[in-house]
Amino acid sequence: MKCPQCQADNKDQAKACRKCGMNLQLPPLWQPSWQWHGRALLIIYAVIIALFLVLRVALKPYVRRLPDDITPWLHGRSVPHSLH
Ligand SMILES: [Zn+2]
Repeated sequence: MKCPQCQADNKDQAKACRKCGMNLQLPPLWQPSWQWHGRALLIIYAVIIALFLVLRVALKPYVRRLPDDITPWLHGRSVPHSLH
């Protein structure tokens, strides 16, 4: 391994750099666990779903309603004769 401070080569098991004496046993960089990943994904999905619900309610007055006669399958009515 290389010393992060002076780039000197050291044994992998070295406790300190043989050149500058820097402590080479620093704790490893933060490595998130699977639990952390799961929680982060859960939070992201929760935020997206919450945003979707909020926008759906907030934008409801601005959503144009389709006329019934162009979506007859949504209303259980038979297709008007004029379309045949
Ligand atoms: Zn060093």
